[in-house]
Parts: sequence; structure tokens; C-alpha cells
Amino acid sequence: MFEYEEGVTELGANYFRYVQDLAEAAEKWEEKEQCGPPGRVAETGRAASRHIPMNVKHNVWRRDGGACVECGSRERLEYDHILPFSKGGASTYRNVQLLCEPCNRTKSASI
Ligand SMILES: [Zn+2]
Repeated sequence: MFEYEEGVTELGANYFRYVQDLAEAAEKWEEKEQCGPPGRVAETGRAASRHIPMNVKHNVWRRDGGACVECGSRERLEYDHILPFSKGGASTYRNVQLLCEPCNRTKSASI
């Protein structure tokens, strides 16, 4: 009985490690995905990164219908931090929206 329990515990620990490895691998993969064309993305921060993960971009794009949330334009779209990154805004689904470049510039100028 004791041996059995020990075996289960070990299995649990191994599984936990396995899940951690997966999460780490996914994180690394996302970081790689975020590194866009050279020059455009210079920052290489980690957790507190202004980079927006691919999955967040996908979800925001779907939520906002692939159009600027201000004027509905479908051209020159950018992912905008609703609460600016410089003010502590995170690169999360809730804090990112689609804005076209002109609307984004207008917003930036008003902050
Ligand atoms: Zn717009």
C-alpha cells in the first residue's frame, strides 16, 4: 500500500514536471513568434513585455472583427494597449484593442 502511494506521488511529480516543460516550451515558442521583422521589434523583455503574444493577437482580432474599434477601418491596423504599456498596461486580451494607425496616433497624442 505504501509502495503504491509512493508510486502515485512520483507519477504526479513527473507529470507536474512534464506540464511545466510544456508551459516553458510554449512560452519560448511564443517569444520566438513575437520577434517580428528585424528593426520593427527591438525590445526583448520577458514577462513584463510590451510584445503582444500571438494568441492574444488572434483573439483580439477575432473579438474586434479585424477592424479599428474607433472608426471601423480595416487598413493600417495596429494592436493598441488600452492602458498604455508605459502606464502599467499588460499585453493581455482585455487590455489590447485594434486601432488603425490614424486613430492610434490621435489616441497617443491625447494621453
Ligand atoms: Zn480608426
